[in-house]
Amino acid sequence: MDFPVFLPWQTVQASHWLGNRSRFAHAWLIHGQQGTGKRQFARAAAASLLCEQPAHGLACGRCPACQWLQSGNHPDLRLIRPDAMALEEGDPAITQENENATTPKALSRDIRIEQIRTLSGWFTTATHRGGFRVAVIYPAQSMNTITANALLKVLEEPPEHTVFLLVADAPDQLLPTIVSRCRLLATSFPAPEQSLAWLNEKGVKQAADWLAVAGGAPLLAHERSLQDTQPCPGWLEAIVQALGTPRFGQLPELADAMEKEQPVYWIDMLQRLMVDLMLAASGVPVRYYMAHAERLERIAQGADPQALADQARWLTRQRGIATHPLNAKVLVHTALQRLFLACVPQKNT
Ligand SMILES: [Zn+2]
Repeated sequence: MDFPVFLPWQTVQASHWLGNRSRFAHAWLIHGQQGTGKRQFARAAAASLLCEQPAHGLACGRCPACQWLQSGNHPDLRLIRPDAMALEEGDPAITQENENATTPKALSRDIRIEQIRTLSGWFTTATHRGGFRVAVIYPAQSMNTITANALLKVLEEPPEHTVFLLVADAPDQLLPTIVSRCRLLATSFPAPEQSLAWLNEKGVKQAADWLAVAGGAPLLAHERSLQDTQPCPGWLEAIVQALGTPRFGQLPELADAMEKEQPVYWIDMLQRLMVDLMLAASGVPVRYYMAHAERLERIAQGADPQALADQARWLTRQRGIATHPLNAKVLVHTALQRLFLACVPQKNT
């Protein structure tokens, strides 16, 4: 397991935050834009809180506590995340369990209530050399109401020497009662130069294009560069080419290609397209699909600004429920139809 360290754009903030531990709050909600490394921030923070010889608040990477952490079995650290995510992260226990199973079972995408309940035994055992005990909970929004309430009970009567680090994209994804028990920590958004340097170090080709399509979020850009062959997927290229023209005949192939993607993914891509179209409609340079700037400006000039705004709002609503769409096929077709209608050239302009 790699030792969790802060990303380059996180160290200054982390050092400032962790360097002052007098009256350190027992529960923190670490939030910030998706794809900017919040999970890594929280795990590196946990390592720093457990380190015996932190330098400027950050883990030294060499002391016995850091070595335990590196080997993946520090008794004072708990990572509480959905089983499916634990498997993706190569958690040894889950991996073993999965390999031993005669029939592979579907792993939970939610944090289970048992994961919170079993913490009570951990709270009563003494910590290593009287230091902190750290529970990292991510993504905190994958707790359902019952699980969240079980955690709330714990946060209301916090066990001694224990720090809870909850991670979520935005506080409004969590129960307000949970949020009110946490200190909020907004993670900083990386500057484009920092993101590009990091992506280059990861060996990502066309780093600037991937970063633009990911809305400036470097981890998201990296993940997409591993999954896809080009920053702008073929179906999105086709949409851009067909928008504002009567070529609705391309719809079936487009829809087929999009249905193969996760709804969250294509909705994100379309949301960025709407932002670009609205920017272009106001005479402002596009932000995401810069390679198509000219074409988008032409589409935006003919489109109805009100319809563009309506479509953007509609996509935002769909994004909220996109992990559990009732019917992915209908959703794709509706989204495409709405998009084309919003971009039909206005006769009088
Ligand atoms: Zn250390």
